[in-house]
Amino acid sequence: MAIGDFERYSVITEKNPREIVLLRGTGCKWRRCTFCDYHLDYCKDEQANFELNKKELAKVTGRFGSLEVINSGSFVDLDDATMQLIGETCQLHHIHELRFECHWIHQDAIPAMRTFFEKYKVQVRLKIGVETFDYDFRENYLKKGLDEKDPQIIARQFQEVCLLFGLHGQTVESMYFDINTGLEFFQRICINIMVENTTKIKPDPAVIAVFMHEIYPEIKDDPRIDILIDNTDFGVGGEKEHA
Ligand code: SF4
Repeated sequence: MAIGDFERYSVITEKNPREIVLLRGTGCKWRRCTFCDYHLDYCKDEQANFELNKKELAKVTGRFGSLEVINSGSFVDLDDATMQLIGETCQLHHIHELRFECHWIHQDAIPAMRTFFEKYKVQVRLKIGVETFDYDFRENYLKKGLDEKDPQIIARQFQEVCLLFGLHGQTVESMYFDINTGLEFFQRICINIMVENTTKIKPDPAVIAVFMHEIYPEIKDDPRIDILIDNTDFGVGGEKEHA
């Protein structure tokens, strides 16, 4: 598979229904998270990115009035023409809710982006990958680059938070602490279960088993919690099936 030859459009029908597009930008500017290799989906050629993004945005129908845009990085990595086309797509299909991902280091870019989308009459929600509220684990082991301990401060600019479970050292208590902290300060949380990738951080099957047996049954129906057992469960990011 060529890098980037992914499924890039999908529809999420359960919990908070929305369309989702995996667009391509110039690449995550942090790139140091020790568990991550999906920042490899990037291209420095903005025109080529726009052409690819245009094809995916053309698939959006607005059926739920809600669109999530992800791009293996932050919204700041998307070119201006793509951002404008996202706005026009929302306007055309009467989409009133738009989600982007953003790393903590780009939070200063959020107010101007919100202002930009006002003219398209779409409300922007921001999702941040916190992974865990255990500061030491997050910063010294996962190298997340989020130098703020207080979830209330993180939540000032971000409405939704991603958590990463299935790592060696995590326990029922630590995972519940992250879930409860996320639900207390943010509108929604998204739990990603660690999957094998090209990094040295490996999923811990024992931790995943504990999560599946002791936590998952308790939270699986919570409308504020998305759970990705596999990181392609939203229908994007998986290999395209070729005829
Ligand atoms: S900020 Fe996101 S895309 Fe960038 S390295 Fe970390 S997890 Fe990967």
